[in-house]
Amino acid sequence: MDIIELEKFRTGKVEFGPTDLVETSMTAIEELRDKIHEKGIKFDVNLPNRVLIIKGHKLGMKHVFYNLLENAIKYSSREGKVEFDIKYDETGKTVTAVVKDSGIGIPEKEQEHVFKEFYRATNARRFDATGTGFGMVIIKQVLDFLGGKISLWSKEQEGTRISFSMPLLEVKTRKITIEEEKTKNKKIVIIGGVTAGPKAASRARRLDSNAEITIFEKHNLLAYAGCALPYYISGQLKSQRDLALSGFQGGPEHFSSVKEIEVKNLCEVNRIDRKNKMAYYKDLMTNQEYKVPYDSLVMATGGSPVIPEIIGVNLQNIFVLHGIHDSENIKTALANYSARDIVIVGGGLIGVEIAEALTVSGAKVTIIEKKDRILSFLDPELSTLVEKHMTHKGIRIIKNESVSAFIGKNRVKYVHLSNFRFPADLVILAMGVSPNVGLAVQAGLQKGPTGALAVNEYLQTSDPDIYAAGDCAESMHVVTGKPFYLPLGSIANRMGRIAGSNSTGKPGVKFSPVTGTIIIKVFDYHVAKTGLSEIESDKYGYDCVSSYVSEYDREHFIPGAEIINIKMTACRKTKKLLGVQIAGKGEVAKRIDIAAMVISKSGIVDDILSVDLGYAPYFSNAMGAIIVSANVLQNKLDGLFKGVLAKELQGLLKEKGEKCVFLDVRLPQEFEEERIPGFDLIPLEDLKRRIDEILPDRKIILTCGTGARSYQAALILKAKGFKDVAILEGGIRMWPYSVSRE
Ligand code: ATP
Ligand code: MG
Repeated sequence: MDIIELEKFRTGKVEFGPTDLVETSMTAIEELRDKIHEKGIKFDVNLPNRVLIIKGHKLGMKHVFYNLLENAIKYSSREGKVEFDIKYDETGKTVTAVVKDSGIGIPEKEQEHVFKEFYRATNARRFDATGTGFGMVIIKQVLDFLGGKISLWSKEQEGTRISFSMPLLEVKTRKITIEEEKTKNKKIVIIGGVTAGPKAASRARRLDSNAEITIFEKHNLLAYAGCALPYYISGQLKSQRDLALSGFQGGPEHFSSVKEIEVKNLCEVNRIDRKNKMAYYKDLMTNQEYKVPYDSLVMATGGSPVIPEIIGVNLQNIFVLHGIHDSENIKTALANYSARDIVIVGGGLIGVEIAEALTVSGAKVTIIEKKDRILSFLDPELSTLVEKHMTHKGIRIIKNESVSAFIGKNRVKYVHLSNFRFPADLVILAMGVSPNVGLAVQAGLQKGPTGALAVNEYLQTSDPDIYAAGDCAESMHVVTGKPFYLPLGSIANRMGRIAGSNSTGKPGVKFSPVTGTIIIKVFDYHVAKTGLSEIESDKYGYDCVSSYVSEYDREHFIPGAEIINIKMTACRKTKKLLGVQIAGKGEVAKRIDIAAMVISKSGIVDDILSVDLGYAPYFSNAMGAIIVSANVLQNKLDGLFKGVLAKELQGLLKEKGEKCVFLDVRLPQEFEEERIPGFDLIPLEDLKRRIDEILPDRKIILTCGTGARSYQAALILKAKGFKDVAILEGGIRMWPYSVSRE
């Protein structure tokens, strides 16, 4: 407002008119939205869902709100909070607006001056150099003219509260405003802005340059890599911006300016009227409701961390890690309380990743897992290897235990298990994710057997105009052919793209069944799985056979060569590849991806054997670890050798002597360095010569480094007439139990 305009108020030359105070305040908030975002300040608004008519002046009142709120924001720090309330008294016929902040405050002696032209308090000038000292003058002039009464309370370093009251003429109910129909273009509404949502929006835009695309996100931030949050906590990623998905680094502004996608963040869709194809939403900044029409809608509402009903679960310093806000809270708690003892409840994917991140940043971490092993999507042979590695890195793992209570006064102090407790400065609950389906179910859409939204191959829900993608939706498992739920960013992205394509109404694109590929980094260990584990295969009724191979990831003489341990499982009858699991310090990612390709095409073991894979000593050994494991598996399927699992062997070793012979066929120096207790040494080279030393009619169990030499030894023994010969699967490298050393 300029001086001439203001002068009109001073001299009474403007006209009064009925004005809706609530709507006017919303216009001011709208104009300040970017400033609020930029500052990242907490902004709490409480406006009545009514039309409050005063005898006023729209523009004048907007300036009042704008200046009041702008000051509150400007004179607060980023950690502060601004509260804005409008309250009304229908019988007393008054309406009161209050703006309160926790900012720098106004020195007592200067308070009487702030309504004077160009006056800026001494602390304000120090805090923020910009400003003319004219905002408060406008506020005063306009309110004086319209019969408003202002009151000011302020204390330095504490904050400021400015309120004004004015006569209220009328109260009316507010109709939910419908967004204007601008064009006849296709309207695509996307609910959820983390992964699948932005992906769907971008894809839809590429296919239809005219569509009106809107993304609703109830939080502030859009399009970030949820999977990278552990690295943000550990400090490996420095700022929130580092988490932005590639192509989305520009934030919400980027969406509207570059992609012409409207972003409504801090807006929550709370109802879908399928009959009239209308989505109702609430602007969380102003608490006002609106509705938008859609032609197609994409549900990308994600999932939520499971929070158990345990005594004390609401104590301070107990967190989940799901969104950016969670990681901010955890970071603050870590800094403020210099938390050392950290307890993670749940040893799944997320629990293990956070455990690593926090250990790297110097904490003492304990994982509590109620099952008998962590990472239970893996078979025990593999999960035990990972467990061993984590323990070696200083993480305490407590299995077969559940938390019975969290103990503390305000903040958590102890974690109580079945019959003991131990200290905890900070607790992270990592007990899985469940799909957010409330809104969809309320709209009458169907859930599948996994609890997530049921979708067909085009990702349509039970309403063909509504698609679902990401962590709220089910997928189909390629091996079992059954509905499957795996809330992973990789799946969410692929789903988002397809839901986006189909939402434009172009010919249907199908979402293929998933193989359920998982890969994680656990310190310098890489751990991955695709398809089914052996335990899962059993559960689905497969008669299966597995191979265990421990191999270098490249030629052993190349510096940096490391071992990877592979378990490969196939169906005995059809040879169909069911699953592959890999763990080790070597290169795991490309091997698991090769397996994923074969499994996704419903291939058999021979399909791996017949591929011409890239080879040079730097990248692989000549045969290639994944091919070696397929070879071993084929040998087993063909009945060429028998294996014994580490766990079974441990049992046999306990029985000892009478029934079995335990033979290690490596070189003497290898045997001296590290061996399984109970084994005797006959190096492979000496086997034929010393064959008489082996007692006949016993079960012979052979071992070596990886299983390769044992296989040769088994062939020699069989040729010499020994009948019951078995090989320790994966050799000593995959032996997860204790060894003796000299
Ligand atoms: P501008 O003309 O750009 O608004 P300004 O914000 O400095 O500049 P006014 O809005 O008129 O000017 O406010 C006058 C002075 O009152 C400020 O400079 C500041 O000293 C004080 N003030 C007003 N609101 C607040 C607040 N919420 N917290 C602390 N000081 C405030
Ligand atoms: Mg101001």
